[in-house]
Amino acid sequence: MENNREACPVQFTTRRVSVFLLILSAMGGLFLLLSYFLSVSASFPTHAIAVATADADRTQPSLTPINRDLYHSSDDLIEQIRSLVHRHPDKLTVETIRAGNKGYKSEISVVTYCHSRKDSDEKSKFRILISFGQHGRELITSELALRILSILSEEQFLPKMDRASLNGTLENAVIKVVPMENLNGRKLVEAGYLCERRNGRGVDLNRNWSVDWGKKEKDYDPYEENPGTAPFSEPETQIMRKLAISFDPHIWINVHSGMEALFMPYDHKNRTPDGLPSQRMRLLLEELNNVHCQKRCMIGSGGGSVGYLAHGTATDYMYDVVRVPMSFTFEIYGDNTATTKDCFKMFNPVDHTTFKRVLDDWAAAFFTLFKLGPSQFDDQSKAGVPKVDKWVSIDEYLDGYLMGRRNRYGKKMEVLEVGMQEIRTYFRLFLLSSVLLLFMFCSRISKTGRQIVSALPM
Ligand SMILES: [Zn+2]
Repeated sequence: MENNREACPVQFTTRRVSVFLLILSAMGGLFLLLSYFLSVSASFPTHAIAVATADADRTQPSLTPINRDLYHSSDDLIEQIRSLVHRHPDKLTVETIRAGNKGYKSEISVVTYCHSRKDSDEKSKFRILISFGQHGRELITSELALRILSILSEEQFLPKMDRASLNGTLENAVIKVVPMENLNGRKLVEAGYLCERRNGRGVDLNRNWSVDWGKKEKDYDPYEENPGTAPFSEPETQIMRKLAISFDPHIWINVHSGMEALFMPYDHKNRTPDGLPSQRMRLLLEELNNVHCQKRCMIGSGGGSVGYLAHGTATDYMYDVVRVPMSFTFEIYGDNTATTKDCFKMFNPVDHTTFKRVLDDWAAAFFTLFKLGPSQFDDQSKAGVPKVDKWVSIDEYLDGYLMGRRNRYGKKMEVLEVGMQEIRTYFRLFLLSSVLLLFMFCSRISKTGRQIVSALPM
C-alpha cells in the first residue's frame, strides 16, 4: 500500500509533466498554425490589391500628370534661371558644360553664387556644391533649385530670415548650383515617361560613379539602377566629377525626392564613416531635422537607413575620393500613398499647398545649412562631440526600412511590405506565446510542488 501510495504521486507527477509537454507542443503547433493563417490572410488581400492596382494602372490611365500650373518645363526653368542670373550679374554667373560619347550628348548648366564677384578667389572661401534633378522624375528638386537661387539673388525672401546675419555668412561662401543634372532624362519624363529616373540612354546617374561601382544587390532592377558600362561612362557623370574635383567643395548635397531623409555616407556600406567628420555631419543633420523637418526625416547613412545598399553613388564618391568633408543626400519629398506606377505623385507634390510648403521648408533648411556649415569648420572644440546614436524601436526600424524601399524605387514594394508585416506579426505572436507558456509552466510547477508536499506525510 505504502509503495503504491509513494509510487502513485510519482506516476501522477510524470503524467502531469507529460500532459504539460502535450499542452506545450499543442501550443507550439497552434502558434505555427495561427502564424501561417495570419500570414496567408495578411498577404492575400495585399497581393490582391497590388494586382488590382497594377491592372487598374494598365486598363485606365488614371496616373497623375505633371501639374503644369505648378511646375516649369525644363526649358522654361533653365530660361528663368538664365534671366535671374542676367538680372544679378553682381552675385550670379552661369556656365553650360557639354560632354558626349558614342553619339550621346549632354549639357549641364552650373550657376555660381559669389557675394562679391570682384573678390573672386574661390579657394579662400567656403565652397558648397549642390546638385538637383539627378533623377528625371524628381521634378520638385529643380523647382527648389530655382527657389534657392531666387533667395540668393534677394528677389525672394524667407520668412523669419535675418538677412543681415545671413549676408555675413554668404560673404565668405561660394555656392555652385546644378539645377538640372539630368536634362535628357527629364525630357523623357516630360514626354510622358513619368517613371524615368535614368539619363537619356537608360543609365542611373547615381550608380555611375566609381566607388563600389557595378555591384548588384539581389533585387537589382536595371530599369531603376543600371550603372552603365563602366564607371563614368556617362557624360553627365563626367561633367559632375570634373566640376567637383576642380571646385573642391567643403559641402556636397545631392538633392532627390521619393522620401523625406537627410543622408550621409555611406550608401554602399551599412554604416557611417568613423571619426570627427562623421560626427560633424550627423550633428548638422540632427539640427536640420529638428528645425526644418519636425523630426520626420530619416537620418543616417544612406545604406544603413534605407535598408539596402546602393553602389556607385555620387555622395560616396564625393566623400571617399574628392574628400568632401560634408557629403549629403537630401530626399525632400515623398508620397507613400501613391500607387507604385503613379510616379509623378509619388515623387512630387501635386497640390499648390504642399508644393509651396515643400519649397518653403527646404529652402529654409538649405539656408540654415549655409549658415551652420562653415561654423562646423572653425569651431575645433567640437572634437569631443557626444555620440548621437540612438536606440530605435523595432517598429521604427521596420517602418523606416519599408518607407525607404517603397519610396526610393517605387516598385515591387507590396511584396516586401507583406514580408515585413509578417515578420512583425510573427515577432509579436512569439512574444505573446512565450509569456503564456512561461505563465503556464510556472503555475504547473507550483501545483505539482504542492501535491508532492501534501503526499509526503500520508
Ligand atoms: Zn532620386
